Amino acid sequence: MPGRCVRSLSGGARGRVWAYGTLPPMPSTIDLHCHSTASDGTLSPAGLVRRAQAQGVQVLALTDHDTVAGVEEAASEARALGLELIPGLELSAVEQGRSLHVVGLGVDPRAPQLTSLIAKLDRLRVERAEQIGNRLARSGIDGAYQGACRLAAGAQPTRTHFARYLLKQGAVADLSGAFKRYLGQGKPAYVAAKWPPLAQVVAVVKAAGGIAVLAHPHSYGWTGAWTRRIIEAFVSAGGRGIEVVCGNSTRDTILNFSGYARRFGLLASVGSDFHGPTNPFVELGRIQPLPADLQPVWAELHRT
Ligand code: MN
Ligand code: MN
Ligand code: MN
Repeated sequence: MPGRCVRSLSGGARGRVWAYGTLPPMPSTIDLHCHSTASDGTLSPAGLVRRAQAQGVQVLALTDHDTVAGVEEAASEARALGLELIPGLELSAVEQGRSLHVVGLGVDPRAPQLTSLIAKLDRLRVERAEQIGNRLARSGIDGAYQGACRLAAGAQPTRTHFARYLLKQGAVADLSGAFKRYLGQGKPAYVAAKWPPLAQVVAVVKAAGGIAVLAHPHSYGWTGAWTRRIIEAFVSAGGRGIEVVCGNSTRDTILNFSGYARRFGLLASVGSDFHGPTNPFVELGRIQPLPADLQPVWAELHRT
């Protein structure tokens, strides 16, 4: 099984990526972070579950951005296929001026505190998307808000949808170019989102019966001092887990965040952050194993 992915990526430029610190992905039966068309993923919730099964995943958490809208469909497909589906979501939050993502695992999708936070985030996303659309219009890109909404197909328009619109219009050569030129921090169409405070997000995940997990900690570019500060705030708010292994983790980031998990007594999570089959480097269930001494979050999920 491990050879399958390595072989498909080896030879040519793609294969060389692994030589620069990214590990070749290993098959895992557990994947606790991915996205469907309920947010910015490209597969339907049911399609995502079918792909997870084809990749050998047995325990899957659906973690769409700021919504649980896909959970019911995913859960019913998972029941039909004999997979375990953990209801989850990925919430955006702010702590000391830094924005970050928190994955809530094992939440009750109908918990009132969660439902009302999601409604508030829906309004924030619409407002922000309208502002992004206005700014893009000032940069000479017309119809971006409507275009992003069309691409979101009923889900909330995210920056990823704007990036896809810019790509479709030929304004950029690829998705990362859309962030570098228009949508990223400091660029003409960047709109700082007013995400809720970390403590509130963690409290809502807990109130919904879930476990709050700090998502992809390697991706924020924080210094060691900032990482400690944010993790301390996360833990004192009631956060219990950290993603030690992600789809794009390197040997160094796994070692580094294993250390934080031990030091702060956090449960370790693993998740690909899969958004769709167009990114050949991130696949459902293709993630490195956790260091054996860490406490896996899924054992705790099964206890609750
Ligand atoms: Mn996303
Ligand atoms: Mn994220
Ligand atoms: Mn994600």
